[in-house]
Order: sequence, then structure tokens, then C-alpha cells
Amino acid sequence: MNILVINCGSSSLKFQLIDSDTEKCIAKGLCERIGIDGSMITYAPEGGEKEVTTTPMPDHTEAIRLVLEALTNEKTGVVKSLDEIGAVGHRVVHGGENFAASTVINDEVMKAIEECNDLAPLHNPANLIGINACKELMPNTPMVAVFDTAFHQTMPEEAYMYGLPYEYYQKYKIRRYGFHGTSHSFVSKKAAEDLGKNYEDLKIIVCHLGNGASISAVKNGKCVDTSMGLTPLEGLIMGTRSGDIDPAIIEFIAHKEGKNIDEIMTILNKKSGVLGLSDNLSSDFRDLEAGHNEGNANATRTLKTYCYRVAKYIGSYVAAMNGVDVICFTAGVGENAALVRTMVCEYLGYLGVAIDQEANHKRSEDIVISTPDSKTTVMVIPTNEELAIARETVRLV
Ligand code: ADP
Repeated sequence: MNILVINCGSSSLKFQLIDSDTEKCIAKGLCERIGIDGSMITYAPEGGEKEVTTTPMPDHTEAIRLVLEALTNEKTGVVKSLDEIGAVGHRVVHGGENFAASTVINDEVMKAIEECNDLAPLHNPANLIGINACKELMPNTPMVAVFDTAFHQTMPEEAYMYGLPYEYYQKYKIRRYGFHGTSHSFVSKKAAEDLGKNYEDLKIIVCHLGNGASISAVKNGKCVDTSMGLTPLEGLIMGTRSGDIDPAIIEFIAHKEGKNIDEIMTILNKKSGVLGLSDNLSSDFRDLEAGHNEGNANATRTLKTYCYRVAKYIGSYVAAMNGVDVICFTAGVGENAALVRTMVCEYLGYLGVAIDQEANHKRSEDIVISTPDSKTTVMVIPTNEELAIARETVRLV
């Protein structure tokens, strides 16, 4: 069955058509600047030429119409008609406490997703717009919602509660939710599979280090803690997000710089992280690595602080699980930045971690980068959130 996977943002939409039998991507692409001047669609059929077309997209329905047109047109299409698309899998960012698993979309589910809008005001409304647009254009095709938060719903209360007045949890459901759940689930399962071990017997730490970054502790097949919180701002230092800070810094900057809360949130989300810490050198680890190799002090400070934070979280999750068997690196930075992996693992001597630098510098699919006698196994496992969404969709329809 062909599954259309949709990841809808407020002005963008990423899509992939995946053949669930072969688990191969048949075509993928991206619509950008939806509702803004200069909208464009990038479309790439597997093995074919990538096409970029500038064309008006006043709304998401038009964007999805163009996606379906690209997938079915005579010249570059990969299917003859929409009948060859068996189901649609939608990435939905926030499922709150309503969803601990993926679910088939119906009116009730859409209402429950809407109830989570407050928790993810930038993402959930956009996800719903994508769902509505597909419903309009493919009314008879089943759709599934796969939530970023669902995998983390198994966290125990002591891991998800904050030290805040309890009434805020009761009134507003303020608690840790965690994100990137699809990736943490996919990578931890894959680690067990690759090692030929039972998922339910392992203690795994997944470091999802991309532009957004989070880390999770997966014990006996269940997430027991993760670094992102109510929102994706908490935890690790990210591309442009601050991660953990003393909350009183917000008031301090507000007074010193005469800024309001919205301006400060923009600083914490868009101007902080490795971008801010490197004094605006870059949010991209390729630039930071190059800078570090050239002796740039901003780059070196940034890499050291970033890796220290990752190592500190690993330590706290070793404590939470009373041990660890496997540590996995994934996402853009985790999969590609050998230097970051080295710098993080230098802190892990107490876990008996020993890295095989030849393996660490190999670019490949899943790979074990620790030596055979390393007491803890360290792996690099490329994440594939689209495939995970497609699998969930097939399972449910
Ligand atoms: P997103 O959170 O947007 O999905 P990705 O997981 O795609 O992010 O990660 C993107 C980041 O990965 C880039 O900003 C860059 O820092 C990093 N990255 C990509 N390729 C490399 C590379 N070859 N070496 C180091 N870092 C890389």
C-alpha cells in the first residue's frame, strides 16, 4: 500500500509517498511559503530529477492539491490516480494527555487535537489545517495521526511533574510532555533489532541531535524520561533554542534590555542555542566544527558547552534507569558530527565507553561505534520519522 506522509507547518508542508511493502520512499517534496508571496513546491520522484516550481499557494488546501497533482501527473507522477494512495499519515506535534498512541482520525479525534492547541500554538493548528485539507481532497482515504508526544506518555509522574503549584497541572495540564517521540521510538527499537536483543530487556538512551535536540531514557521498551518539556524549548542546547536556563534570567534580561515576554521568548527560541552561544557564528555544526578546527574560540566554547550538556543528561538518565546498555546518536548532528560524538563520549569513561574512531568516522547506515570490549554499546542510527509514521498508518488502517 502507498502511504502519503504529511508534516504540515504553519507556512510549509513536507510530504513523502512511501510504499509500505518495500518501505521505500517513492517520491518526496516540500511546499514552502504557503499563504505568502513566492510560494514554491519542490518535488522529487525517487530516481528522477528534482523539480522546483514557483506557483501561488494561498492556503494549505491548494498546497496539498499541488502535491497530489505532482504525484499523479503523466510526466513525473509516480502513481496513476489517487486510488493508489491507500492512506495518509499526519505528523501531529502535541497530543497532550489525550493520546498515548497513534490513532485513526475522525471528528472526535480532530476535536481532541484542537483541545491541545494551547499547548502547541504554532504547530497543532497547522497540523489540523493539513488534516482538513486532505479530508477535503481525499474524503474517502483513511487518515492516521501520529503524535510527537505519544511515545513519552509512559513517563512516570515523578519524571513529568514540575516543582510548580499543583493547581497549574490540574487547571492547565502544565507538565513535561516531550517531543521527537516518533524518532526516539524508531531509533530505540532499531537499536534492539540491530543488536539482536529483546527491546523489553534493554536500557537505552537516545540522543536525537538535530536542529531541535532532545534525549530520552527508554527502559524495557518504555520511555521513562525525556529532556523536552511542556514545549520543545527545554533541555539540551539546540540550533537556536536555549534549552535549560535559570527561569529568573527571563526577568533579568527583561529589566536590563527593556524587553517584553514575547521578545524574550523569541530570543530563547530563535537567537539562542549554538547560534547565540557562538556569538552568531552559526547554528550549523558544519560551520562550528570548521571554526573549531581553525582555532575559533567562539566555535570551541560552543561545542564544549553543547557536548557537556548532552553528557550531563546522559548521566542523569543512567541514574534514572540505574544503568544503561546502549547509547544511540541520531538526527542531523548525531548522525554526521563525529567530533560531537567523540566529545560527548569523552565524559563517559565511568560507563566503560570506548569508541572505535574508525567506525565513528565511517558514514553508513546503522553502525556500532564502540569497541567490542566497551562496557556500554554506542551506536549511530539514522532516524526516519516518515517511515515510522507510514508504519503506524499501515498498522492502524
Ligand atoms: P531538523 O531538526 O530540522 O530536522 P536535522 O535533524 O535535519 O534537523 O539536523 C540539521 C542539522 O544537522 C544542521 O543544522 C547541522 O547542524 C547538522 N548537520 C547536517 N549535516 C552535518 C554534517 N555533515 N556535519 C555536521 N553537522 C551536520
